[in-house]
Amino acid sequence: MDCKKVMEELVFRLADDDLAQDLIVAYRQHVECCPHCARCTKRTRYVLTVVRERTARLQAPKHLRLKIIAGLSTRRDQLH
Ligand SMILES: [Zn+2]
Repeated sequence: MDCKKVMEELVFRLADDDLAQDLIVAYRQHVECCPHCARCTKRTRYVLTVVRERTARLQAPKHLRLKIIAGLSTRRDQLH
């Protein structure tokens, strides 16, 4: 499992509880030995919590939520 896959796919799916059990295990093993992904996971989870709190009140459709998240991760990439 590489970092790119973890960040692009697994973190969001994990946050949405949409991850198969074997992938969750592989993901956790990776995060445990990869400080970069551990940090990104923390940040992504925080962002998702904030987005969720806001969209819960506004009842934003899922495609809008994904758009917000995509925008945030684009900005994150530019920071590197
Ligand atoms: Zn990693």
